[in-house]
Amino acid sequence: METNGYQNRKGSSRNRIFNQIREAGSVSASQLSYELQLSRPTVKKSLDELLEAGCIHENGYIGNTGGRRAGAYSVRADAKAAIGIDLTRNHITVIIADLCGNLVYEKRVHRPFALEDAYLRYLGELVEEAILAKQIPREAVLGVGIVVPGLITEDHREIFYGKILDFTGLTVDEIGKYIPCACRLYNDADAGGYAEISQRRDVTDAFYISLSNNIGGSILIDHKVYKGEGPRSGEVGHMTIIPGGRECYCGQKGCFETYCNAAILADMFQGNLEMFFERLQDNDADCAGVWREYLYYLSIAVNNVRMLFDCKVILGGYVGAHMEPYLDELKELAAARNTFESDADYLEVCRVKKDALALGGALPFIHELWRGI
Ligand SMILES: [Zn+2]
Repeated sequence: METNGYQNRKGSSRNRIFNQIREAGSVSASQLSYELQLSRPTVKKSLDELLEAGCIHENGYIGNTGGRRAGAYSVRADAKAAIGIDLTRNHITVIIADLCGNLVYEKRVHRPFALEDAYLRYLGELVEEAILAKQIPREAVLGVGIVVPGLITEDHREIFYGKILDFTGLTVDEIGKYIPCACRLYNDADAGGYAEISQRRDVTDAFYISLSNNIGGSILIDHKVYKGEGPRSGEVGHMTIIPGGRECYCGQKGCFETYCNAAILADMFQGNLEMFFERLQDNDADCAGVWREYLYYLSIAVNNVRMLFDCKVILGGYVGAHMEPYLDELKELAAARNTFESDADYLEVCRVKKDALALGGALPFIHELWRGI
């Protein structure tokens, strides 16, 4: 029988039934009994438990089963929620994901990061505002995932490398001081990769490269982030692309980060990346030259990743979201470097183009509930 990846290890009937309802959208007791090969009394008992817990509801009738109408069950999407906050140098994004994992609230504000009380207080206000807007009872919030450009300890409680925003050592208790729910920290590229792989049924393993103002990477195996011993796996931004090359903020030279961060493109237009891609579309010669160089360096990194993992390579982040029209050109460059393959069809553009990072901060809470229910 096909499993959906979120059934708990014990494989309890209740858990299997919940996930079956969630995947089907709407399903009757007799369908559940048939599809999961469970007796009718077992299905009934589990449905009663899930109804009691408020996680599902009976939402009318579907189809005709032998002249008798069958009651259909659906997940009560608003029964639980998780919040994701994406912090960058200049912006804050807050999202809410419902019990089905759908994005139901989004707010992005311009607010430069500052390690001061007013900023932290503002984070709390943004969360309060989101909860109020969706009228979510406080106890229905499973947790808040705070996504940052930094490396996070295994327990999600401390930033142990945070040079980008100069916040090394900052703890979740400090950053979430005014947030009225349980918080965890997540690395930005991992959150983006997790959001992406969560949407994919066809792919279980991938390497996600986040091409934003900084470059990050995430190793995704069996729909989970592989963190390594550090835990600092996937940091492709600091692979050496050019020995002795451009200086990186990390103190090294020639890092991939210094050749393919989004700011290289955006800074041609006072930080406006959209403008860069508009001009590129209009065949602006300066943009075309910079872009050619960008793709050249990117193809080196992409091929290195392919050599190492032999899995799909997914391009995300600000630049990844604009990559579609140029993917064939990048594939050609990457394929030309490949020892074993004549094409680079392993290369893909991210599907989650909006709020991927914030979403990736919220989804782990939702998925834990799917597994544990
Ligand atoms: Zn570096």
